[in-house]
Amino acid sequence: MKNKTLNHSTDKKAGVYLHIPFCRSRCSYCDFATDIYKNAEIVESYVAALTKEIANFPHEKIVDTVYFGGGTPSLLSAKQLERILKIVHEKFFVTDDAEITLEMNPATVSLETLKAYKNLGVNRASFGAQTFDDAELKRLGRKHTANDVRETIELLRKADFHNVSFDLIAGLPRQTVADWRRNLTEALKLQPEHLSLYILEISEGTPLAEQIRTGRQPLPDEDAAAEMYVILLEEVARNGFEQYEISNFARNGFKPKHNSKYWTLDAVYGFGCSAHSFDGADFRYSNERDTAKYVALIERENSAVVHRETIEVASEFVFLGLRLTKGIDLKIYERRFGKNLIENYREDLQRLEEFGLIEFDENRLRLTKKGFLFSNEVFAVFV
Ligand code: SF4
Repeated sequence: MKNKTLNHSTDKKAGVYLHIPFCRSRCSYCDFATDIYKNAEIVESYVAALTKEIANFPHEKIVDTVYFGGGTPSLLSAKQLERILKIVHEKFFVTDDAEITLEMNPATVSLETLKAYKNLGVNRASFGAQTFDDAELKRLGRKHTANDVRETIELLRKADFHNVSFDLIAGLPRQTVADWRRNLTEALKLQPEHLSLYILEISEGTPLAEQIRTGRQPLPDEDAAAEMYVILLEEVARNGFEQYEISNFARNGFKPKHNSKYWTLDAVYGFGCSAHSFDGADFRYSNERDTAKYVALIERENSAVVHRETIEVASEFVFLGLRLTKGIDLKIYERRFGKNLIENYREDLQRLEEFGLIEFDENRLRLTKKGFLFSNEVFAVFV
């Protein structure tokens, strides 16, 4: 599926993010922009709006990542995915080696659908395993079982997917460190190429927040969550994963290109409800969050952008760069922003170094392992 010729191969490449906001049910902890998949008609009108929004994109850009996030993008039919990808290829110069990721949930795909996705160019699957404990899955309101995760990865391998990422959540209410160890063992047995870890955060307005407020669920134990994180670091290292970011781990050769763009402030153009975009310089904008309002705005005005801002790039460069294990290149910072970071923040940095949260020399500044656990304290200095 290729409609444009790539003729600016040395330009910095951007990413495209496509938000698919439909899910089978609502997980109790979720505060993403999602809707229940009510009927095919609503999804059709959303796909029509999404393709119209992409078609109206005014610039010519080279793109080496396309990311379908959600929501549950694997609820799209292969035909719908094909329509969306077709318009992406028409509007952007998509490189031959582009990474095309699709988020999916276990038990939402068949072998036939996966093969069709693969034929359309999808070459990376990111899926929400979350936990391998059926009781925990149930408490979270997830509609799949641990066995569905095992079956889905088997289907993915049969459909020729060799770049698979799992999301796992630690720090769940009632989850013990022993539970977490069992989870990790189960996840690692399935040999994904990549792992993303989420420490559960309780978001106001979610069913889980209400369950905790009314005493039906206990508050997650923060110390246990920190211990789970440390166990994860040890286990993934023993199993051949490299930690390249606070919460992300990859086997050799499987660091995803798309997510890195957010941490290195490369351009990412987002389409769909709630999608955020960054122009790679200093301008950010985002779309209407509500699905129906998004569709109406695109139909009526061809645009659903509701928020625009010029960001303070120097501080974002620091606290996004610090999420990466390699940290920040101080020479690049100086060239780009005309100031010396160490000189500017000397007292703060010395204090953080004394606490063992950061390490630095004249070339690089990075978080220590302890710093990863207390990253918010470090980031606060630069915000
Ligand atoms: S599947 Fe993901 S996006 Fe959908 S409700 Fe659950 S957590 Fe939210």
